[in-house]
Amino acid sequence: MISPVLPTYARAPLSFVEGEGPWLISETGERYLDMGAGIAVVALGHANPRLVAALEAQARRLWHTSNLYRVPNQEALAELLVENTFADTVFFTNSGTESMECAVKMARKYWHAKGEPQRHRMIAFEGSFHGRTIAMISAAGSEKLTKGFGPLLPGFDHVPFGDHDALHAAITEETAAIIVEPVQGEGGIRPVPRHCLQGLRKLCDEKGILLIMDEIQCGMGRTGKLFAHEWAGVAPDIMAVAKGIGGGFPLGACLATEKAALGMTAGTHGTTYGGNPLACAVGIEVMNVMLEDGFLDNVSRTAGRLRQGLEGLVASHPTVFESVRGEGLMLGLKCVRTNTDVVNAGYGQHVLTVPGGDNVVRILPPLNLTEAEVDEALHRLDAAATALEGAA
Ligand SMILES: *Cc1c(COP(=O)(O)O)cnc(C)c1O
Repeated sequence: MISPVLPTYARAPLSFVEGEGPWLISETGERYLDMGAGIAVVALGHANPRLVAALEAQARRLWHTSNLYRVPNQEALAELLVENTFADTVFFTNSGTESMECAVKMARKYWHAKGEPQRHRMIAFEGSFHGRTIAMISAAGSEKLTKGFGPLLPGFDHVPFGDHDALHAAITEETAAIIVEPVQGEGGIRPVPRHCLQGLRKLCDEKGILLIMDEIQCGMGRTGKLFAHEWAGVAPDIMAVAKGIGGGFPLGACLATEKAALGMTAGTHGTTYGGNPLACAVGIEVMNVMLEDGFLDNVSRTAGRLRQGLEGLVASHPTVFESVRGEGLMLGLKCVRTNTDVVNAGYGQHVLTVPGGDNVVRILPPLNLTEAEVDEALHRLDAAATALEGAA
């Protein structure tokens, strides 16, 4: 008999009832160190007192009015994002996939408004992930996402990750935009090299193509910059954000330059919940924390310690781990054993990680993890690897 919850997930037999920083507490009172942070969402830790206070204060005043009216929290959060990024304007959503939907609609509308509606195709990279709507599984294109859900949305072309020749060959007179995750997340923590992001920007400029970045997983401080593309010194025209921006409250955003937003005039796009007062109250406080002096530097410092420790684990467990990759606190352990074995062994040591593509275990902890917590996570992962070796 089917479960009351639609069985689309193969869930671990764990459930948590409370959280505190990087710790999750199970129904039976056991404490787990959360190095997945709900898949890079709980960027400031569970039950962060500042976010709780922001949400509680807003919850007592006003929950929802709709986008028929001005929403002060939405305006304030948009201003914070515009002040601190390439963007001139922001559309708020409830999720990553909706942020990407807005990005794709905006790119198509741009060319329509420019009088070139035939430019409607988008190029995306294999191994990418952009969400689960029909448009976004069509955009990512992998069979794992699309099988059985056809017909897919037309207009997306796919090129292998890192294949410059294939990318050049895929560009036609109909190309509207190129879509890229600066660091692929679900695909297995695969960073696009900085010179490649720079090359991509140059290529888009030469051909007049819009560059869309999906920073839903790699953005919001995760790599030690507010957004990952900043490391390469280049900017997108349109960028999708979600996950960390709400710190656990459902919130997403599509950021754009004024130029790229050309076609998005009144009545062209909308959402009931997007940018609602509760979500934006939390988003403002997340930004306030991340913009504080030293926050991002501390992410890089913590990341250095964690990465060094993970390199050590690879060296001492060569039959379990192959290598470490990633940027900042978006790290991947490429495994020799299957990644699910490693994640399960982690459960045994009460440390939570997330499987990803390419047989990688993702390490995506809260960004404010302390050094002692880094060391504790390494200790537990070491014990998990040792347990696996014993079982081999
Ligand atoms: C999680 C994710 C999405 C989808 O976000 P949802 O909130 O699940 O819709 C899209 N792109 C990337 C890179 C992601 O990591």
